[in-house]
Amino acid sequence: MNKVIEKLIALNDIDAMLKDAESEEYKRLGFQTKEQCIENLKKMRDEIAASIPKSILRRYEKLKKKYGRGIAPVVNNICTNCFMQMPTEVASKTDKNEKVETCENCGIIIYWT
Ligand SMILES: [Zn+2]
Repeated sequence: MNKVIEKLIALNDIDAMLKDAESEEYKRLGFQTKEQCIENLKKMRDEIAASIPKSILRRYEKLKKKYGRGIAPVVNNICTNCFMQMPTEVASKTDKNEKVETCENCGIIIYWT
């Protein structure tokens, strides 16, 4: 798999964790643990983000604002963000996950499972 895609997936996971960590229910962990956790996640996020090409990172951030995430897996040829079926010519490509691609319908960055 393309390294940038791997990093985007990791970034997406961290963003989801940060969202959880900043939510109310996370408070049961106690303040110290929570603060430490968020600090570590943010540090990790910065490191990963710094290694992603700027134009792709910008696109990811824009998508995140719009959809709550910047990348989505394609499962059974269906985009899990908008639930549109991928066109046959896209679904039959042999170089899947080798470069950063977007869903033709919703524009989210996609990867193939
Ligand atoms: Zn889509």
